[in-house]
Amino acid sequence: MTTDRERIVALDKRRVWHPYTAMDEYAKGVDPIVVSRAEGTRLYDADGRSYIDANASWWVAALGHNHPRLIAALERQARANCHSALAGMTHAPAAELAEELCARAPRGAGDGALAHVFFSDDGSTAVEVALKMALQYWAQNGRAERCAFAALEGGFHGETLGASALGGVELFRRPFAPALATCFHAPSPGDPAVSLDEALSALAALFAREAERIACLVVEPIVQGAAGMRIYPPEYLREARALCDKSGVLLVADEVFAGYGRSGPMWACEHAGVAPDLLCTAKGFSGGMLPMAATLASERLYRGFLGDAERAFYYGHSFCGNPLGAAVALEVLRVFDDERVLARAQPKAARIAEAFAALTALPHVARSRAIGMVGALELEGEAGYLARAGWRVYDEARRRGAYLRPLGNVVYVTPPLNIDDADLEELLAIVAESVAAARDPS
Ligand code: PMP
Repeated sequence: MTTDRERIVALDKRRVWHPYTAMDEYAKGVDPIVVSRAEGTRLYDADGRSYIDANASWWVAALGHNHPRLIAALERQARANCHSALAGMTHAPAAELAEELCARAPRGAGDGALAHVFFSDDGSTAVEVALKMALQYWAQNGRAERCAFAALEGGFHGETLGASALGGVELFRRPFAPALATCFHAPSPGDPAVSLDEALSALAALFAREAERIACLVVEPIVQGAAGMRIYPPEYLREARALCDKSGVLLVADEVFAGYGRSGPMWACEHAGVAPDLLCTAKGFSGGMLPMAATLASERLYRGFLGDAERAFYYGHSFCGNPLGAAVALEVLRVFDDERVLARAQPKAARIAEAFAALTALPHVARSRAIGMVGALELEGEAGYLARAGWRVYDEARRRGAYLRPLGNVVYVTPPLNIDDADLEELLAIVAESVAAARDPS
């Protein structure tokens, strides 16, 4: 007799096309975790086993799974209004959330205060909104030639074609390259082979050559997630802001991964005391419960769309400002305050840093790094997303009760910010044991 779990796996293998997955290998060789329930830091398989969710399900479950207050907010809002459009109408969750976001937005010198919020569905659309805003801003404010983008090598900004143009991971970009918008890529300050000075001079040289054509520079502030948790110094961001100011290029901070306390402060930009012209947020923004995102824009940018009706931003997804997502996102902010999530994450962040630093003692660990609630290490040998080494660690960790999906040869943890100390210790022990066990015998 087939169990329910087997039935689900069979259906899945017949029909579901999984993201970022080589499907033939998956169909033949993978027995997936069949999540039947998730709570706090843990995922529960239909076979009764539990797994610590080491990456908060692709970095979204900042407050863990099914936080009771988020569930309650969702239920309350579902009874009142699941969805109504935001065109010419509004509702309390969207209005209140926009106000709260602007009040908490990063502040910096100059006219960068973020004062207006455009809602969309996920990280990719939040970035897409920023790109289109930047293009249209220049198109109707006398600088139509500013129609290219700039971004960092190794950067990741999402799946839509606009966001893919920014993407600096060659493997992900390659199939679409001929159809992508022009984007100049500057060396990543997070690349261990590039010094801060080199990265800054290269950005300055790029701006000296091309700034007049560039609408915006898009960066993941302080930590490049998909590149393998590459961390770079705040000086780079400050200098990038200064270069943008000098040459009129808009600065877009993609805080989809690094924001909401993942790197320590609420926004990664705060490490550098910098305010961008546009800020994209998603993932932890809605507590990982619903697809919901926002793009915050400065007053100056917003004003560039006022005047004749043809200057308006003709953009908007069906679920723009979805009341369920907005109600949950508002509750996320309240939980951050009431449960002092950022302050309480600090000692956990210190533990992650300590544990990952210790792992460099293993001969097959090339280097490790940590910032906020991110810990990562690089295994020796082949690098890049297709490297197999991280998957050996994944298998070991799964046997020990953790879901530890790697980025090629990079093994990392990005657990919920409110992971309790016992789960964190268990996770760090699993990481240490699994990395040690996965040493290639050859
Ligand atoms: N920007 C960054 C920095 C990201 O890490 C991601 C997703 N990993 C995105 C944008 C795209 O977000 P989404 O997958 O929600 O579309």
